[in-house]
Amino acid sequence: MIEVKNLTKKYGEHLAVDNLSFTVKDGQIYGFLGPNGAGKSTTMNIMTGYLGLTDGQVLINGHDILEEPEEARSCIGYLPEQPPLYMDMTVIGYLKFCAELKKIPRAERAQAVEEAMVKTGIEGVKDRIIRNLSKGYRQRVGLAQAILGMPPIIILDEPTVGLDPKQIIEIRDLIRKLAKDHTVILSSHIMQEISAVCNYIMIISNGRLVASDTPENLMKQQQTASSLELEVRGGRVEVEVLLREIPGVQSVEMQKSREKGAVKAIITEEAGADVREEVFYTLAREHHPLLKMNQERVSLEELFLELTDEADTQPKSTGEEVSE
Ligand code: ADP
Ligand code: MG
Repeated sequence: MIEVKNLTKKYGEHLAVDNLSFTVKDGQIYGFLGPNGAGKSTTMNIMTGYLGLTDGQVLINGHDILEEPEEARSCIGYLPEQPPLYMDMTVIGYLKFCAELKKIPRAERAQAVEEAMVKTGIEGVKDRIIRNLSKGYRQRVGLAQAILGMPPIIILDEPTVGLDPKQIIEIRDLIRKLAKDHTVILSSHIMQEISAVCNYIMIISNGRLVASDTPENLMKQQQTASSLELEVRGGRVEVEVLLREIPGVQSVEMQKSREKGAVKAIITEEAGADVREEVFYTLAREHHPLLKMNQERVSLEELFLELTDEADTQPKSTGEEVSE
């Protein structure tokens, strides 16, 4: 389990992570979703002990990343945004070297390296020089490095960036497989990426957590704000009165219709309610034919844009930013 409490990181005057708090429970795939510059890499680098923090606390399985860095880091396998690959080494040579760095006991190293290569499907290229591998295979080597020694938590920073569509699918499948044995946290600035793999999503924008929930609940949350647009034959007042009485209807806004003898109504539903059928039956019973009904369902992608847009209106730092 990871507990991040009120994490803040400043680069000079630039606030990159702003009072971020969340908990990562075991056995799930967490997605860290946010646009470029949101603070994903900064947060991950702090969680893995590669970067200091300005304020707050990170606990990895109960170990404070600052007070017990060795114990905390031994619980985590990390694939940073720029994997630390030694291009002139062979795959197996590099992984043996990583096993040594990770202080895996000498007697267990060969076995650990073998296991990591099998799991990531790179035994076939183990004697190749890393430089000569495709980007997809290099990324697998990075993943192998992360899972060496079977740490309970795997953190992957934008693991599919720069890969072609086929490689992306392969890496995604691999991540899903890894999730059977590890808690996985991965970051991405691409909605589809996160919703395809993760069962819990944290949306981060300007260093702050703007939403966190399962994909299903995020959708539900969104549907709260969803609306029904109706076109109904009848007078404004009588239609409005009928609609307002339907359970689950939060508010009704009446508008003019272009059609003669008809009115337009915009219904906002209560959280989780679906009033479409009741609207149909009520209007039919009262002889107000329903001419049109349109439900505005906002996709998770739109939710993401909406959430990050809103946060974007916050004042931004003018400090110089380091581009990626
Ligand atoms: P993400 O990974 O979500 O794209 P980052 O964590 O890389 O975001 O960056 C968050 C913010 O911090 C950005 O505004 C970025 O420009 C800034 N930043 C990142 N690293 C540094 C650094 N070493 N020095 C100064 N600013 C940085
Ligand atoms: Mg990043």
